[in-house]
Amino acid sequence: MDVYSDISSIKGVGPKTADNLRKCGIFNIMDLLLYFPRDYESISSCGNLKGEKTNNKVIVKCKTIRTERDIRTKTGKILTTIVFHDGNNILKGKWFNQPYIKNNFRIGNTYTLMGKIEDFRGEISIVNPKLLKDNENISKVEEKIIPKYPLKSGITSNLVIKLVNIVLQDVVIVENLPNYIINKYKLCSLDKAIRVIHNPVNLAELDEATKRLKFQELFTYSLKILMLKNYFNENKKGIAFGIAKELNALKDRLPYDLTKAQNMVIREILIDEKKSCPMNRLVQGDVGSGKTIVALIAIFNIIKNGYQAVMMAPTEILATQHYDEASKLFEGFDINIKLLCGSVSQKNKQEIKKELASGKIDLIIGTHALIEDDVEFENLGMVVTDEQHRFGVMQRSRLTNKGANVDTIVMTATPIPRTLSLYLYGDLNVSIIDELPPGRQKIETQYIKQDFKYKAYNFALDEIRKGRQVYIVCPLVEENEELKLSSVENLYIELKEKYFSDISMEILHGKMSPKLKEKIMNDFKEGKTKVIVSTTVIEVGINVPNATLMIIENAERFGLAQLHQLRGRVGRGKYKSYCILISDIKNDIIRKRMEIMKSSNDGFFIAEQDLKIRGAGEIFGFRQHGENGLILADVVQDINLLKLANLEAKRLTESKDEKDINIKNGIYDKIAKSTKYICFN
Ligand code: ADP
Ligand code: MG
Repeated sequence: MDVYSDISSIKGVGPKTADNLRKCGIFNIMDLLLYFPRDYESISSCGNLKGEKTNNKVIVKCKTIRTERDIRTKTGKILTTIVFHDGNNILKGKWFNQPYIKNNFRIGNTYTLMGKIEDFRGEISIVNPKLLKDNENISKVEEKIIPKYPLKSGITSNLVIKLVNIVLQDVVIVENLPNYIINKYKLCSLDKAIRVIHNPVNLAELDEATKRLKFQELFTYSLKILMLKNYFNENKKGIAFGIAKELNALKDRLPYDLTKAQNMVIREILIDEKKSCPMNRLVQGDVGSGKTIVALIAIFNIIKNGYQAVMMAPTEILATQHYDEASKLFEGFDINIKLLCGSVSQKNKQEIKKELASGKIDLIIGTHALIEDDVEFENLGMVVTDEQHRFGVMQRSRLTNKGANVDTIVMTATPIPRTLSLYLYGDLNVSIIDELPPGRQKIETQYIKQDFKYKAYNFALDEIRKGRQVYIVCPLVEENEELKLSSVENLYIELKEKYFSDISMEILHGKMSPKLKEKIMNDFKEGKTKVIVSTTVIEVGINVPNATLMIIENAERFGLAQLHQLRGRVGRGKYKSYCILISDIKNDIIRKRMEIMKSSNDGFFIAEQDLKIRGAGEIFGFRQHGENGLILADVVQDINLLKLANLEAKRLTESKDEKDINIKNGIYDKIAKSTKYICFN
C-alpha cells in the first residue's frame, strides 16, 4: 500500500467519511498515520472487579442477567438499571434519563462495557457506561491503552482506530533516520514507533515510540532551520536601505511619544535596514507594549526607499486593525495600502494581486491569504509577521521568498528565553520592548468560584452603565460529556436571558465567516455592542480602549501566558480596567496560578512563574497541534531532546562526507514535499 494514496482507497471509506477526514487535514494514508492520538485512556484490564477502586476506568465483558424497573430519583431523573455478570461478580449498569438504553441489551447476551467503577458497600456498578461495539478489535483493545484522537468534523476516535488498524495491516514503513543516530540514541524503528503510537501495549513502549517520533520531528525541524540559516548566509547580499528624510515628519505626527524601549528597538531596526545583509529580527514585547507602531515605522522607511512591504497577521480581525492603524498613521504620505484577507472577494483579490505585481501597492496587510503562490511583488523589501508563533517556519519563509533577500521582522508577545530562540530561529536577532507606555494602569484581577459567577456579571452591568464595554471569554470545547464547560453558545443564551436581556450583546467564534466576525468586531469597536461573548479568537492583538472588563470562564483551562494575553485586551485606554477569572479551585496548582495572575501584570514574570510550577508546557503557545508543524514534540518541554537533535542536524549539515550529503539531501527532499516533520516511504 502506497502511503501517498488517497484515503478513499481505504476499504470502507465512502465519500462522506473521506470528506470529513479531509476536513481534518487527512488526505492520504500518511496523513492518517500521522494523525496521532491527543491522549490515551488507560484502562485497567480487570481480572476481578472486586479489586478495582472506585473511579477506576474499566472495560468489562459481561453477560446480561436482568433489567430492573426504572425508578425516578429525588432529583427527578429516570434511573435505568441493568444487571450483568462478568464471570466473577454481579455488576450493575446504571443510566440516567436514557430509559431506551434497555433496547440495546438482550438477556443472556454478552456485551463489552466501559466506564468508571463504583464500589458502594460491595455493590459494584458503572454509571452511564459506554457500550463498546463488538468489532474485531475489541478483544485486542481490552488489554490496551485506548487512544483518543482529536475529534473534529464528524470524526470519531473509533473511526480513526478502525482505519488506522486496517492501514497498518498493509503498510510497511521504511526506516529513514541514519543507522548511526538510531544506535547512538537507542531509538526504536520508525515502523514500530508509528504502530505503537496508535496501539500501545504498555506505557514503556509508548514512551519509546514517542521519543523516537519526537526526535525525528526535532531533527528534521533543526535541519530545516539550519537550511534556512545557510540560505541566508549564502545569499548574504540584501538591500541596504537609506534613512528616509520623511521619518522625522512621521515621528512628529505620532499621536503619542514613543517609549524609550520603542525608540531603542526602532533604532536597532533602522541600523539593520541600513546594512547590506538581510535583517532577520524578532521583536518581543509584552501585550500592549506597542509593537505595531514600531513595525509600521520600520515599514515606512522601507517604503520611502521605494520598496514594497508586507505585514501578515494570524487573524482577519487583527489584520484589519493593523490596516486601520497604518492607514491613519500614513495619511498624507502618499502610501498605497491594501488589505488582503480570505474574505476579500475574488474580483478584488485579483485586482490587488495585479496591483501588487505591478508595484502600485506599497504596503499590503493581510492573513494567510498572502502566502498563496500567485501573490507576487514587484520589489518586496520587508516582511513583517505579527504574533509569529501562530505561523510555521515554512509559512514565514514562503512569504520571505516572495522577494530577494528581504528584511524580516517577526513580532511576538510570547516571552521566549534566548537559549530557546536560538534553536527555534537559528541566528535571529532579538529586540525586546521591555516597557509599557506611560499611564497604563494595572489591571485589577480577581478570581472567583463558579457559584459566584453572578457577581462578575453584575459587575459587568455596572461597567456597562458607566459606558464601558465587556469581554467574556470561554474555552473552546470539544464534545465532551464529562467536563461541563461553558461552551460559548450556551453561555451566550444563558447570559442573554439572565443578565443582559436589554443590552446589546454579540457572540464571536472561529467558525463564523470572516465577514461576520469582522462586522461583530467593528460594532464592538464602535461601541454599538456592549458585551462580546467569545472564544479565544479575540486573544491576539484586538484593541478596543473603551473595554474595561475581561471575564474569563473556566480560567483553569488556559495557560497563564494565554490568560495574560486575554487580559491584555482591556486596560488599553484611560479607564481603570478589571479581569475576573472564573474557576473552581480544584487543587493547589490552580490556586497558585490564579494567585500569580492576581498579583502580577508582567508577562515575562508570569511566564517564568508558570514555567516553575508547571515545569514548562504549553505556555509558549507552540503546543497547539501542528501550528509550527510539530505534532508531538514541544520545543520547551523537549528542550533536551531538541538540543541533541540540533547537534546531530548541525553535524550532518556541516559534513562533507558523501554519505552524509546523500542523507541530508534525502531529508531535504522530504521536507520540501510535506508540511510535517515526520514523513516516510
Ligand atoms: P502590542 O505590542 O500588544 O501589539 P499595540 O501595538 O497594539 O500593542 O499597542 C497597544 C496600544 O498602545 C495601541 O492603542 C497603541 O496605539 C498604543 N501605544 C503604542 N505605543 C504607545 C506609546 N508610546 N504611548 C502611548 N500609547 C501607545
Ligand atoms: Mg500586537
